[in-house]
Amino acid sequence: MVGQVAIGGDAPVLVQSMTKTDTRDVDATVVQIETLQRAGCEIVRLAIPDEEAAEALGEIKRQTSIPIVADIHFDYRLALQAIACGADKLRINPGNIGGHDRVERVVAAARERGIPMRIGVNAGSLEKSFLERFGGPGSLALVESALGHVALLEQLDFHDIVLSMKASDVLTTIEAYRQISARVDYPLHIGITEAGPVRVGSIRSAVGLGILLAEGIGDTLRVSLTGDPREEIRVGYEILQALHLRDHGPYLVSCPMCGRCEVDLEPIVAEIERRLEAVREPLTIAVMGCVVNGPGEARHADFGIAAGKGSGVLFRKGKIVRKVKESEIVEALLGEITSHP
Ligand code: SF4
Repeated sequence: MVGQVAIGGDAPVLVQSMTKTDTRDVDATVVQIETLQRAGCEIVRLAIPDEEAAEALGEIKRQTSIPIVADIHFDYRLALQAIACGADKLRINPGNIGGHDRVERVVAAARERGIPMRIGVNAGSLEKSFLERFGGPGSLALVESALGHVALLEQLDFHDIVLSMKASDVLTTIEAYRQISARVDYPLHIGITEAGPVRVGSIRSAVGLGILLAEGIGDTLRVSLTGDPREEIRVGYEILQALHLRDHGPYLVSCPMCGRCEVDLEPIVAEIERRLEAVREPLTIAVMGCVVNGPGEARHADFGIAAGKGSGVLFRKGKIVRKVKESEIVEALLGEITSHP
């Protein structure tokens, strides 16, 4: 459990993100957390680089309702402070915090508060010894590093563990998760780290996470993008929705437009997509450019448009509602959706 949210087992695959504000700036961080929550974020991670950030976490906890993960590197005192300030989970690699005593203290504090730890191995910060032993940050190096951290916690009989092994290389990440899922039974947080700006990062994440999820690997995910964190949430849900693992708002079907299309479909679809962002019902909506595939897709969707010459036929649940002019397609479709949810 991370706060009130379950990870692993039969629980749904959760969508996470990380704030991009300075954690010490409580107001800005709270605003971003609320924005992420509205977008559907279910767990949020905060960087805790110093004591001031750990203090701020306490205040942020008081002002928000989402489970919060404290992301800590190297400093066990920050881990203890974050736990005391109300973190719902730690992201920490116990092998990097400076010895058995320190691990023991962090484990004792986490156990007392009943909070889990995510061991988050990252190809970019893999220990030198593993890089040397395996000749670089390949999948086996990631897995062995993760298992080393796991062993430290298991020695202390601590099993409230989530694991991640992220690389920016998609195939390395896939291979690492396949290997670890065959070797341990802990819930896995999956992601392609430093995946890039929104377009390429979304594609790399969809390929990597899509393959893993289709194989049944992954209990929670983050799409890491250089950009608006809400995009991370949107893309995360699109990946889950494409695999029928979660419902999160409408599933928009639209045609790629070919020489048969006789309306200016692109702005129509863009506007519909934008306005559907506020809708949470799991509806299928088809916006099609002509009468070849249009009526079929539109009929099978909950709501649909099959465009013709400067016009469109509006469908609801397989039945024709009426014909509308091109300029009225957006309002007609959205009006139909809101009046017959
Ligand atoms: Fe072309 Fe019609 Fe298919 Fe759209 S629905 S791509 S316009 S054939």
